[in-house]
Amino acid sequence: MTSAPYTDASQVGHYINGSNVEGHGGRRQDVFNPATGKAARTVALATVDEVGTAVAAAAAAFPAWSETPPIRRARVMNRFLQLMNQHRDELAAIITAEHGKVFSDAQGEVARGIDIIEFACGIPQLLKGDYTDQVSTGMDNWTMRQPLGVVAGITPFNFPCMVPCWMFPIALAAGNTIVLKPSERDPSASLFMANLLAEAGLPKGVFNVVQGDKLAVDALIEHPEVRAVSFVGSTPIAQYISERAAHHGKRVQALGGAKNHLVVMPDADIDQAVDALIGAAYGSAGERCMAISVAVLVGEVADKIVPLVAERARNLVIGNGMDATSEMGPVVTRQALERIEGYVALGLEEGASLVVDGRGLRVAGHEEGFFTGGTLFDNVTPEMRIYKEEIFGPVLACVRVKDFAEAVSLINAHEFGNGVSCYTRDGGVAREFSRRIQVGMVGINVPIPVPMAWHGFGGWKRSLFGDTHAYGEEGVRFYTKQKSVMQRWPQSIGKGTEFAMPTAK
Ligand code: NAD
Repeated sequence: MTSAPYTDASQVGHYINGSNVEGHGGRRQDVFNPATGKAARTVALATVDEVGTAVAAAAAAFPAWSETPPIRRARVMNRFLQLMNQHRDELAAIITAEHGKVFSDAQGEVARGIDIIEFACGIPQLLKGDYTDQVSTGMDNWTMRQPLGVVAGITPFNFPCMVPCWMFPIALAAGNTIVLKPSERDPSASLFMANLLAEAGLPKGVFNVVQGDKLAVDALIEHPEVRAVSFVGSTPIAQYISERAAHHGKRVQALGGAKNHLVVMPDADIDQAVDALIGAAYGSAGERCMAISVAVLVGEVADKIVPLVAERARNLVIGNGMDATSEMGPVVTRQALERIEGYVALGLEEGASLVVDGRGLRVAGHEEGFFTGGTLFDNVTPEMRIYKEEIFGPVLACVRVKDFAEAVSLINAHEFGNGVSCYTRDGGVAREFSRRIQVGMVGINVPIPVPMAWHGFGGWKRSLFGDTHAYGEEGVRFYTKQKSVMQRWPQSIGKGTEFAMPTAK
């Protein structure tokens, strides 16, 4: 186990047909260490031809891999699970080096990714079909689930290990082959996992990584051999992917952005609610799709909560994610920093009360790093853009409401519906909240209710385009298609042609 910083300066390429390959197209992009603000390596941006080579490798590998018995595919996943456990800290250090999040948070991300690999190891049980004996005299009927073929995964920067793990372990265990297109901002984690999969005995071509941008994404979603597309990222791109992939006849799930609310009821435990708001708003510098970006403060609770959150936000320990004392690291890029600080300026113009201003933070020894401090707004109203839009940074907006009903209608009117949380001691309120709220993932006294591997992850409204959630049994359904077989044998077949709809006899 190691927590040494990741400093490998080698150039990042693709992983195609069991080999690490350099990009040939000539287009490359810098990969920054957000804590230093310096380019640490470059990443290849795939050409259409390189995407085609990866899809061809995946298509060639599909027949043998899909014919491999599920128990043997599960054994490969089991060895991969062991290797991921052995190398989890190296992987976490890679994430911190390219994303910026603090090392303990990166360790948590890897752990949540590993949970899904563990779930995928149960694929023989998960693929078991249904069987009905004697649906008609001498006839049986059963359903089975078969893999789709080549599938594509397109993932965001904010969880370079965990979000790919929402996709490929289940896709592979179910018998598909995959081409993954990770975020170009932090591309190294997926290559690291590709090499561990090979070490675990995964045959060549079953798992491929193409690095790249829109060009690679478009080539993947238009490729006739790609049967399904899983996407996680911002809402405009999720909608685009969903529409384009559907246009090309593919099965698609596209998870988008969020604006997650945490309601504090007057009876809540105030200290717990403050702890929750601080961790969920400022953890990972607010760059989580399940981050809390709106505190909905009910009645007189606002006057208690705001000063306590402000005090804690001002005193956040912000620094290099590899420094064990840091509670919050930098944001991912200079552009992200400018966007976030731009929203803080906008909030002021819109008339919100800026209680803590995180702009312009300089971290000693890391003057070029992409740091911004924790920001807190009070008296935010639903018409403001800082309320409506996803800022994706360490900015918490407090909205004051008079009662529970107003809190629920506020949240239900929002265009996003990813995660939500309610802090209360009242079981009746908790129950009503869970039932009435139009959001896909609900926490009761849990600030970031990311479902466990076997429950499945997905938002509602403009946080998810498609019908199935990611991972869990929904993931198994997404990566397989159902087939029904009806069978009888010559001795039980009666004589004569039937022209009426067959019914049980
Ligand atoms: P993004 O949408 O910019 O990028 C996601 C992926 O799409 C990347 O692989 C990127 O290369 C690709 N891409 C970017 N622009 C594209 C374009 N014009 N055409 C085709 N492909 C394109 O998202 P991001 O900034 O990497 O990640 C942050 C966003 O992801 C936030 O909005 C966050 O809420 C969301 N997110 C959602 C979930 C969820 O489960 N709902 C989880 C994690 C992140």
